[in-house]
Amino acid sequence: MGRGVDFPAERVRMVDRLVRSGYLKDAAVRAAFLAVPREAFVRPEDRSAAYQDVPLPIGSGQTISAPSMIAIMLEEARLKPGERVLEIGTGSGYHAALLAFLVGPRNVVTMERNRSLAEWGRSNLAAVGFADVTVVVGDGSLGHPDRAPYDCIIATAGAPRIPGAWSDPLTPPGRIVAPIGSSPPGQVLVVATRRSDGTLEIREGTPCAFVPLVGAQAWPA
Ligand code: SAH
Repeated sequence: MGRGVDFPAERVRMVDRLVRSGYLKDAAVRAAFLAVPREAFVRPEDRSAAYQDVPLPIGSGQTISAPSMIAIMLEEARLKPGERVLEIGTGSGYHAALLAFLVGPRNVVTMERNRSLAEWGRSNLAAVGFADVTVVVGDGSLGHPDRAPYDCIIATAGAPRIPGAWSDPLTPPGRIVAPIGSSPPGQVLVVATRRSDGTLEIREGTPCAFVPLVGAQAWPA
C-alpha cells in the first residue's frame, strides 16, 4: 500500500492544513513537520494514510497520535535548539524524530516499556538519520535520572497524575507536557512549568484521549 503516493507533496499539504486550522504557529515546529517523513513511522499497510490527521495503530494496542495533537504538544513545549528532552512513550519514534529535529538528536532521550516497540522505534529513527536519539527500554513513570537534568519532559501516554519523578530532574523553567486524567482515555493536556522554588505552575489545556501510561507511578498493568 502507498505505492505511487507522492509523500513529500502529501507532507506539504498536511502542514498547510495544520497551519490553516491554527494548530501550527511556530516556524520551527512547522519546519520539523516538513522535515520528518511520517510514512517511515507507520506500518506498511497504513502508509497511504500517513498524512491524514488521524491516530494510526502501531501494534500492541498502541497508537501514533494525530498530527494536530502532536503539533499542540510541540507548540506547548516551546523547545529551543540544544535543550534536553525526555519523551515518555517512544512507540513508532515519530514524535521523538520531531523532537530530535527541534533540539538535536543527542539531546533526546525517549523511553518505551514495550521492548519490541522500542526496537521498532529505534530502527525507524535510525532509518531517517536520527540514530543518535537514545531509546531506553523502561518504565517512564519513574523518569530517567541517568540523563538528568532536562528542560522538558513530554509524555505521549496518559497518567492519573504527574509522577513525582518527572518534576525533580527539571531545570527551571522546565516544562512537563503530558495527558493527565482520572480515566485512561479521558484526559486533558497538562502543561506544568517548574518555578525556581521547585513548585510546579500547572495549566490545563485541550481534552485528549491517549493510551494509558502503565507503570509504578501511573496505571497498573
Ligand atoms: N510517541 C509515540 C506514540 C506512542 S503511544 C509515537 O510517536 O509513535 C504511547 C506509548 O507509550 C506506547 O508505545 C506504550 O507502550 C508506551 N508506554 C506506556 N506506558 C509507558 C511507561 N510507563 N513507560 C514508557 N513507555 C510507556
